[in-house]
Amino acid sequence: MTLKKIGLIGGMSWESTALYYQIVNREIARRLGGLNSAPIYVISLNFADIAQRQRADDWHGMGAILIDAARQLENAGAACVLIGTNTMHKLAPDVQAAIKVPLLHIADATAAAILAQGITRVGLLGTRFTMEQPFYVDRLRSHGVECVVPNEADRAEVHRIIFEELCQGEIKETSRRKLQKICIDLRECNAQGIVLGCTELPLILSGGDTGLPLFDTTLLHALAAVDFALSTHH
Ligand code: GLU
Repeated sequence: MTLKKIGLIGGMSWESTALYYQIVNREIARRLGGLNSAPIYVISLNFADIAQRQRADDWHGMGAILIDAARQLENAGAACVLIGTNTMHKLAPDVQAAIKVPLLHIADATAAAILAQGITRVGLLGTRFTMEQPFYVDRLRSHGVECVVPNEADRAEVHRIIFEELCQGEIKETSRRKLQKICIDLRECNAQGIVLGCTELPLILSGGDTGLPLFDTTLLHALAAVDFALSTHH
């Protein structure tokens, strides 16, 4: 069977890119059996450069970097492109406009999973950019999903845990407990589920931790890529 090739812009951080790589390969093997594995091209960026540009608000510069990566993937033969981070989906419209193959949007895959569970109001954890700027919340809203975000102090703490710990491969029990408490507070704001809206969050939070369904954006995005690779109608 010929699989469509997946293109992944990763390295943001590589900790979550490793998850994508594992998920797509395991899922292809699970569905097709035997020695089947995923045809995937990965461009892995240096996250120190990206994170520095995020802090400097240099979205123009990051747009150029992502567009260059997406074009390289397309030229190499990728039939779809994924940006392996929620935050960098701020630039998704620019990246999609620069390539002919589809960009599989992480929030679309997430919204579909949320709606499939009959849920329309979710708590959102992610970087400050994802929680505070409209690009992500509005994309979920366009599918009929409303978001509730943590308060200012908790947003600062989630952001800190992502950059100072998870993106550097550090998983701390104290941080896990803090994140669980934040999820419980969101449940009290009538959240019916929690979006792990940062691709490193599944390293520290998993189902059963919070009493609410968790929507693991890394998993859902990677599975959307597998569906695409196996599809015949694109
Ligand atoms: N991987 C994280 C996300 O999904 C944060 C890294 C970034 O700022 O791109 O948003």
